[in-house]
Amino acid sequence: MSEEKRSFEAEVSKLLDIVVHSLYSNTEIFLRELISNASDSCDKLRYAALTDQKLLDDGGSEFSIHIAVDKENRTLTISDNGIGMNKDDLVENLGTIAKSGTSEFMSSLTGDSSKDVSLIGQFGVGFYSSFMVAEKVEVYARKAGENQGWLWVSDGRGSYTINETNDVGRGAKIILHLRKEGDEYLEAVRLKTVVTTYSDHVALPVILAAIPGEEGSEEETLNSASALWTRPKNEITEEQYIEFYHHVAHGYDEPWHTLHFRAEGAIEYTSLLYLPSNPPFDLFEPSRKSSVKLYVNRVFIADDLEGLLPPYLRFVKGVVDSPDLPLNVSREMLQDNPQLKKIQKGLVSKLLKELKERSKNAEEYNAFWSNFGSVLKEGLYEDFERRNEILELSRFRTSSGEEWRSLKDYVSSFKEGQDAIYYITGSDVAALKRSPQLEGYIAKGVEVILLTDPVDEFWVTSVGIYDKRPFRSASQSADDLDAIAKNKSDTASDEKKDNEETQTDIDALIVSMQKSLGEIVKEVRVSNRLTESAVCLVGEQGGMSLHLERMLKQHGQGDGLTKPRILEINPTHALIQKLAGQSDEIIGETAHLLLDQARIVEGESLPDPIAFAQRLSKAMERGLL
Ligand code: ADP
Repeated sequence: MSEEKRSFEAEVSKLLDIVVHSLYSNTEIFLRELISNASDSCDKLRYAALTDQKLLDDGGSEFSIHIAVDKENRTLTISDNGIGMNKDDLVENLGTIAKSGTSEFMSSLTGDSSKDVSLIGQFGVGFYSSFMVAEKVEVYARKAGENQGWLWVSDGRGSYTINETNDVGRGAKIILHLRKEGDEYLEAVRLKTVVTTYSDHVALPVILAAIPGEEGSEEETLNSASALWTRPKNEITEEQYIEFYHHVAHGYDEPWHTLHFRAEGAIEYTSLLYLPSNPPFDLFEPSRKSSVKLYVNRVFIADDLEGLLPPYLRFVKGVVDSPDLPLNVSREMLQDNPQLKKIQKGLVSKLLKELKERSKNAEEYNAFWSNFGSVLKEGLYEDFERRNEILELSRFRTSSGEEWRSLKDYVSSFKEGQDAIYYITGSDVAALKRSPQLEGYIAKGVEVILLTDPVDEFWVTSVGIYDKRPFRSASQSADDLDAIAKNKSDTASDEKKDNEETQTDIDALIVSMQKSLGEIVKEVRVSNRLTESAVCLVGEQGGMSLHLERMLKQHGQGDGLTKPRILEINPTHALIQKLAGQSDEIIGETAHLLLDQARIVEGESLPDPIAFAQRLSKAMERGLL
């Protein structure tokens, strides 16, 4: 067969360009990436062989990873006897970037190579890091169970070739033709250091072959080759835990929390779990897949098994290994296995308990919460049983300052007469704080929770209650605000309001405004919440929040129509007082202007911006002339 030449997918070329030209610090990570791929490939074959023993016929069932150095030809070879690849796999795996986050990856590159290099593993582009040290890479591969071998070759500049070859055993053999800068990787000492630093935990032996022409050089196993999670805690160093985290989580930050424990009793399992200190890029992918790896008696089963952890804990990384799960059933059957459900229950309990413990240190916990709070909150409506635990773990921004607050904090600062937990939803904390709907609450010193995560709309209506107190929207009817004790200093100024004459004028104003706005609003009414602004829009208590309505509209959901809202007016505002008593025409024009103004404050687009501009010009004209 003649050689086939193909171009890399555009994204790969771009990535390779960055790898070759910008990432020059920390070049040794390429070895970790290749060893990690080799180890994954052996895991995959071991799993596939559970149902098809024949796959092991040629190449054996003893898995290992070999490193060989050829100083004369300046090559470094990493080979494994794992699952291997056929032609399609090579094209798919080494010619494209399968993960959907590539463009995010490109945009998250900072130009700071030490930070960027850490992104490489996280985005699943580990193999390409070999071009940091190699000017040419050859991949010899043969897939388990197939006869034909393949050779993939590239210099990392835009294209690669694929050829048939018979010169390959089961698995993959990757030959790096080192650049001058890669010389250090021809030295046994250097290789040893890199492997023990980064790959000691790999559960297969990583064997360095005797280096030809080097006196006294002999074959040597470089790592301890036992699965890290099976070792006793006191024999594992902090560095080893961190390195394993890098391997298993593809994250190069340090774990925010490490949890290594063995459960014994009805069901036995060992788990080594990590909570990252940085959010992974795919945290909000629609699949919401868990990324904890499941092993059964050290045999890798799956790294995205549904049912191992609920989606709201998908930021947890690590491994779970249990001897009590059946080995040779399909993943689908395993997903529904009652034993697995027990493991899930145990893991969730343990994780929430650990979080509770860590929440005692507010500063540290807030860092976690900022990263993953919006994911954990999904549990508030998905895991009824854990709802209270998760509510206790939740932290909020509120109208009363910059601090994260717990619901316990919130309830402890209830005002006299307050019987509900007030919240408002929106997309931005700073804007919410200045929202006219909150004026009355803030004036009375009533704290309002500011909810800005999309998930908030869903849980807050479904949770309904915390510690016997209902959650109540502050952007809806505020009838109960009157029952809350005023701050003493406000009392005097409020008395001015109750002037009967003004009241009659205001009543007439409302009738006139209502007439001119017609069906566009549900109602015009006097507000008991506004202190600064002239008007604001509110919804009906229990109805859909304005923010949710907007979100649905943006996503083309809901009926796309804006429901008529209540327009509240502030009778103490100079503008409203002046407006009372004006002609119906002026009231009508101004009512439309005020409604549009309230819409703008809400961040909504105006249904008729031209009419708004014309009215505004007319009003300014009246004011100036
Ligand atoms: P990642 O390992 O994060 O998926 P890589 O770019 O390192 O990203 O590898 C891409 C894919 O190529 C892997 O997911 C795997 O399917 C395949 N691959 C890489 N190395 C090997 C190997 N030694 N044996 C079999 N498949 C491999």
